[in-house]
Amino acid sequence: MRTPAPLRLVESFLNSRDLSTGWDELATPGGFGGWLAVHRLAERGVTVGEQELSLARDLREALREALRTGPAPGAQDPARRNSQVRLDALAYRVPLRARVSADGAWLAPAVEGVVGVLGRILAAVVLAAHDGTLPRLKVCRAPGCGAAFYDTSRNASRCWCSMQVCGNRSKTRAYRGRRRDGRGPAGEPSPAAAAARPAQRGAGPDEGWRGAGPDAQPPAAVAGWPIRGAAPAGQDQQP
Ligand SMILES: [Zn+2]
Repeated sequence: MRTPAPLRLVESFLNSRDLSTGWDELATPGGFGGWLAVHRLAERGVTVGEQELSLARDLREALREALRTGPAPGAQDPARRNSQVRLDALAYRVPLRARVSADGAWLAPAVEGVVGVLGRILAAVVLAAHDGTLPRLKVCRAPGCGAAFYDTSRNASRCWCSMQVCGNRSKTRAYRGRRRDGRGPAGEPSPAAAAARPAQRGAGPDEGWRGAGPDAQPPAAVAGWPIRGAAPAGQDQQP
């Protein structure tokens, strides 16, 4: 299972900022222009306005926060509700339109240029919410990471962008906490020792953590993000 094509753009947009190092491709208009060119969303040397850059950065972080908190049916949790209200307010500034052709109907940007690219990203999010793939687009739960990844694990329970880096780091932190608090069995192996026994863990960086430990997360619901409206064609480009 790979990241569905429409969500690859969303994933890449979110990962244009590396929270762990502070590196940000959208730090300047020129940097954003370079990112657009690399992704073949604009000609090299395209001019990006400060307002467009600001909207893109705000949208990216609102989307990251909404994915981090997850869907909020009923919205009992204020943090979840706030993140979705913020994303909704920013999305209001990015016009989308329904497109209809012999191939079907889909959502597409209603404008061109940089805001149109943001429209493609939002249209991909809406499509993924509709086809059920959006809950698998996640934000790494390791403190200070926040990288986006597509969870290809069978039960959609992966929490970290990389078991080798963020997963081991989080497990080591939890292990030290349990040792400090006097919890846990005396013979409990450290995560480093466990990592040395490949048979007990995932085979590769993309397999993800299957959640057997005390800090395991319950399987994420694959339903959710109750966004209404059809976008069946899987296309978001203007003809
Ligand atoms: Zn991570």
